[in-house]
Amino acid sequence: MVYPPVPHTSIDGNVWPALPGQKGQIVLSLLYQMEQTQWWSAEDIRDHQFQQLTALISHAWDKVPFHWSRLEQMGLKPPFDDLQQRWSDIPILTRRDIQEQDKSLYCEALPTGHGAVFDIHTSGSTGKPIRALRSQLALWFWSAFTLRDHLWHRRNLRGKLAVVRDSTPGVAPYPKGSRFKYWGSSRQTFDTGTCVTLNINCSAAEQAEWLARENPDYFLSHPTNIMRVANHCIENKIRVSNLKQINTLSEILRPEVRDLCRAAWDVEVTDNYTSREIGYMALQCPEHEHYHVQAEGVYLEIVDEEGKPCKVGEIGRILVTHIHNFAMPFIRYEVGDFAEVGAPCACGRGLPVLKKILGREQNMLTKANGEKVWTLLSEGAIRKLLKIAPILEYQFVQKSRTGLEARFIVGRDLTKAENAAVRVWLAEKFGPEFDFDLVFPEQLQRSKSGKLQDFLSEV
Ligand SMILES: [Zn+2]
Repeated sequence: MVYPPVPHTSIDGNVWPALPGQKGQIVLSLLYQMEQTQWWSAEDIRDHQFQQLTALISHAWDKVPFHWSRLEQMGLKPPFDDLQQRWSDIPILTRRDIQEQDKSLYCEALPTGHGAVFDIHTSGSTGKPIRALRSQLALWFWSAFTLRDHLWHRRNLRGKLAVVRDSTPGVAPYPKGSRFKYWGSSRQTFDTGTCVTLNINCSAAEQAEWLARENPDYFLSHPTNIMRVANHCIENKIRVSNLKQINTLSEILRPEVRDLCRAAWDVEVTDNYTSREIGYMALQCPEHEHYHVQAEGVYLEIVDEEGKPCKVGEIGRILVTHIHNFAMPFIRYEVGDFAEVGAPCACGRGLPVLKKILGREQNMLTKANGEKVWTLLSEGAIRKLLKIAPILEYQFVQKSRTGLEARFIVGRDLTKAENAAVRVWLAEKFGPEFDFDLVFPEQLQRSKSGKLQDFLSEV
């Protein structure tokens, strides 16, 4: 185990202490500061965030027509001395705004030093694509948070990393997959081991065989994919002897995935919360299963239906401001997810805590009377379901006010008694007023980016 990781030298004959190249130096200088700032008090962190937010808002006022007109309308003007007091009056930025406003959200001129501008297209889970711009500066922060995640979870960067994420047809096909010398851009800063990848549309059996053959130290994928591979490994007693940790991202982590990974490979899961347009928003605490907001990169708010900040224990919608991306400022952007506000963490970090992250609004169940409720599939409930019948994967789709389709991938056909027991479970979970349709498709419906949601509403 090489810990802490060794910086990657860029100079012949320089071994220790090592000096990385320019890109690595930039990221290392952010990491150096973030090693301190994570321990600051919540108040200190917030004060510094508002210094950075003032710089962002001043830029948006000057160079981004969409934000200028919003700020002008609410009478928020330079030098923005009252920014902190008036922050929550700034209107929410929605996906729809981004689709409709398009170019008026791009900055007219980037300040010196922010670097090149890159664009991405992302569909999110709503299927409506948006185009987003990011500066090189924003990408440096992205790299720094990637490394912070490695450091927090004490990964051996010299180990082998296996990644199953890409769903592009023809990319990293079974059985060979693709092979890279390094863990992507992390190598600019630290020495790393190799990275192997496989297409996420490969079957669970193919992935398990590949995993056992590659025998990596770390396995990174979407939680629902990890789940199907873990189930396959449990059933077929496939061990991956070098595996030390599972890393999940880009979907909501269901609690039973942690149990499954312990059962399949005797390893723990670390999760993080990201989006394509924003980047890292929260990382799992090194000592707990909840998350710390990455406050050096984002200002994250959790608000109730009236837009008021939620208190500890309350669930509300997530609004996020990327404090360093001046190319296309995301100010109070509604990501579409919900979270529960956590109490300050016992680990001592002052970074805000998200106790739980919940799926998108479309994943709420609509009752017959029109009321919308969370379908929280708790660990206990899911465990109970999996005990009833040999269910490998599940997905519930609300088709109408009273109709719900339960889709299962099963190890074998269910018996009459199992079928009946599943129906009883469904009625307990979703309510007796629903008609349940049990279907057994070959595959469950995934979004374009390979994500799978456990509950979908078509109402
Ligand atoms: Zn913590």
